[in-house]
Amino acid sequence: MKTAVVTGGAGFLGSHLCERLVAEGMRVVAVDNLVTGKRENLRALDGSPAFSFLLHDVSRPFTIAGPVDYVLHFASPASPIDYLELPIQTLKVGSLGTHNGLGLAKAKGARFLLASTSEVYGDPLVHPQPESYWGNVNPVGPRGVYDEAKRFAEAMVMAYHRVHGLDTRIVRIFNTYGPRMRPRDGRVVPAFLQQALTGRPLTVFGDGSQTRSFCYVDDLIEGIYRLLLSAQTDPVNIGNPHEMTILEFAETIRAAVGGDSEIVFEPLPVDDPKTRQPDISLAREVLGWEPRISLDEGIRRTLDYFREVLARDQA
Ligand code: NAD
Ligand code: UDP
Repeated sequence: MKTAVVTGGAGFLGSHLCERLVAEGMRVVAVDNLVTGKRENLRALDGSPAFSFLLHDVSRPFTIAGPVDYVLHFASPASPIDYLELPIQTLKVGSLGTHNGLGLAKAKGARFLLASTSEVYGDPLVHPQPESYWGNVNPVGPRGVYDEAKRFAEAMVMAYHRVHGLDTRIVRIFNTYGPRMRPRDGRVVPAFLQQALTGRPLTVFGDGSQTRSFCYVDDLIEGIYRLLLSAQTDPVNIGNPHEMTILEFAETIRAAVGGDSEIVFEPLPVDDPKTRQPDISLAREVLGWEPRISLDEGIRRTLDYFREVLARDQA
């Protein structure tokens, strides 16, 4: 039985990943300090002898008893409002946390996979973004704490790969959505869904002409699992190339929910990227992966989850 350590395992993506790895027959240890994650995200795994949880801040050194085959580093605030509220913790988990995870992987002879991000491309000047693009990031702007932490993390992973011969993977994740996002985490999918479900105005930042490309969580996890088992050590984009403006997205959510919420315009946050769309040619070629779940289907599944959460909150 292989053992995987998932940092950030109690978060949105981490919890889906832990479930997938257990389903694939692995022993999984989730390590999380619950700064933005929730223990209940892992409820489905409680009681499984293959699963355990360690409450720990991975910016501080840690070890795991026994053999470890994979270390997957997902710990980091990920929503802009979270990392703007926790700038130093974000820099620390991207730098010290990555270093500690790499140290664990090196000590155990494990494969290390970094959850990187499309934010390494910043406000991109190349469109769509291939992995060969180096990005356009403002290091001293408010978003720099997240973007630069991830860029540093990628550099650190590649240094461990080159110097220590560590077996490493880097996934550049583009905007992903689905069940277990916190309704108030500030990202656009939960924000619009929650606003539409409670009959409040949908808050479009700027004029809504900026674009994003949204990937459903199950598609993303499939891509990450394939990358983990592949031989690909250079970074790989995983995301859905279906691009739309944020205004179009607001209209899509309003239509899916069926309410009559108005759309209001609010100031655009500093350094908000104007466009974002993954070039997934590499993932198609080396992983045989592409997204399968349509936006309509993904929104329907996410909507079911948010309806349940809101009903529970009101009970
Ligand atoms: P999330 O906030 O739901 O999950 C992050 C988890 O990390 C939380 O459970 C949090 O408590 C934990 N964490 C944060 N700092 C920690 C620390 N110092 N020690 C231990 N645990 C810590 O966010 P998410 O959307 O699930 O993102 C997971 C990872 O994927 C992040 O690294 C993020 O940068 C990356 N990512 C996500 C997206 C996306 O669209 N969801 C896009 C690009 C990259
Ligand atoms: N956004 C918006 N209204 C909101 C939240 C976000 O218009 O209530 C916009 C945000 O300005 C950005 C896009 O939606 O252009 C995606 O934002 P998110 O925070 O989800 O992720 P980002 O891609 O910026 O990291």
